[in-house]
Amino acid sequence: MALRVAVVGSGPAGIYTAEALTKQAQGPVEIDVLERLPTPYGLVRYGVAPDHTSIKSIAGYLRRVLEAPGVRFLGGVEFGSDVSADDLLSCYDAVVYCTGAMVDRRLGVPGEDLPGSVAATDFVNWYCGHPDVPPDTFSLDAEDVVVIGVGNVAVDVVRVLAKGAEELRDTDVPDEVLRRLEASRVRRIHMVGRRGPEHAKFTLKELRELGELINADVLTFPHEVEVGDLTTLSRQTRGNVDVLRSWSERVPANRPRRLEVRFWLRPVEILGVSRVEGIRLERTRLQDGRVVGTNEFETIPADMVMRSVGYQSVALAGVPFDSTSMTVPNVAGKVSDRQYVAGWLKRGPTGVIGTNKSDAAETVRTLLADTTPGTARIRLDDLLSARGVTPLTYQDWLAIETAEAELATALKRGERVKLVGRPAMLAACGRVTHPAQDATP
Ligand code: NAP
Repeated sequence: MALRVAVVGSGPAGIYTAEALTKQAQGPVEIDVLERLPTPYGLVRYGVAPDHTSIKSIAGYLRRVLEAPGVRFLGGVEFGSDVSADDLLSCYDAVVYCTGAMVDRRLGVPGEDLPGSVAATDFVNWYCGHPDVPPDTFSLDAEDVVVIGVGNVAVDVVRVLAKGAEELRDTDVPDEVLRRLEASRVRRIHMVGRRGPEHAKFTLKELRELGELINADVLTFPHEVEVGDLTTLSRQTRGNVDVLRSWSERVPANRPRRLEVRFWLRPVEILGVSRVEGIRLERTRLQDGRVVGTNEFETIPADMVMRSVGYQSVALAGVPFDSTSMTVPNVAGKVSDRQYVAGWLKRGPTGVIGTNKSDAAETVRTLLADTTPGTARIRLDDLLSARGVTPLTYQDWLAIETAEAELATALKRGERVKLVGRPAMLAACGRVTHPAQDATP
């Protein structure tokens, strides 16, 4: 008898979990990968920046897992509305939750809800063509943009804002997004860290890439990138500091855009009456390792303030959740009897995509050590069909991919252009005859 496992979420953590199950299981195993979207790959499709094609090519690896014997993709099945934790425990011997961390963290300062104050997660979803974020969500009529946070997501959004649309033409960004990038009025971008260059979370490779932008002058201020003792820093951090210091010596070359990378400033208020007009920042220092204000303030005029201060997970109904760490409490991936967790939902939003591979392997070792086949009583397919839910299959996904390649050819743009919105995707795989017939965005 095969061991039946449900994996909830088809991002890297979910697919690496499916892979680990196929590799580690001693006997036969049937794995259903459930996904609320019509398409697989999670953040690889809707998080990795469009111009990071080598990272996006991980999809080629993940694809082989979904094509492996015993693995099924079930798209358009939403945990919480279409199926519950109890349903899954009736249908499978074990369930692994891999829903990641898709919600933005907030700054908690006044003015954060003004129009023009936005989350980087929404902006990323927008340029990646996420079906939950329509293409008209952003029009880049802001001249001054302040991005709060100095992690790799901040670097991604800053790079996309700073690049010319022609630099992104051969990527898979939706065509409407490309048109809006073409019309962008962004001139000055400020990326702001609340601590020093030696504390920044971005990685050296991504930082260096910023310095090579052809469309933007990239600068730092000497007094903000001074770092005392470099010898105690890791090689990666020392590299970051060296790059940032070298930018303080750059002479602007009158490029169309200007990016200033700022440090030791924390947001205290987003200013504006009916929409964002600027941001008030307080200069900081460290005291016993904590960020404290110095009572010196600076205002940067801005039409858009984008917070890029990390993602967080959301609680799943019927699954324990720690609202302090915003993760699912677990021991080596085990949550409770027959319930497991992997990826960002397990350890928080840290690490690169590959980190999820070893993380998933740990969860699967735990699962296989204490799960036996034969607990599952009913089949998910019967349960879903009784509820009128017809999952999208892996073949449906291949049809969506084909339509995206055809769109790129028609538009004379790269290898693929993302279809936007569920109706277009469902039409591409023949689930609805015409996009306009389905009103869901
Ligand atoms: P992150 O690496 O955790 O960076 C968050 C940034 O926000 C930090 O600079 C943090 O400063 C700052 N921050 C947090 N709270 C703040 C507040 N209240 N006020 C001001 N600043 C605040 O998160 P991320 O950039 O969202 O990235 C998430 C994960 O995805 C990371 O592991 C990242 O490496 C990965 N990722 C990788 C790539 C890539 O490999 N190319 C691309 C994108 C994302 P403090 O350090 O002071 O807290």
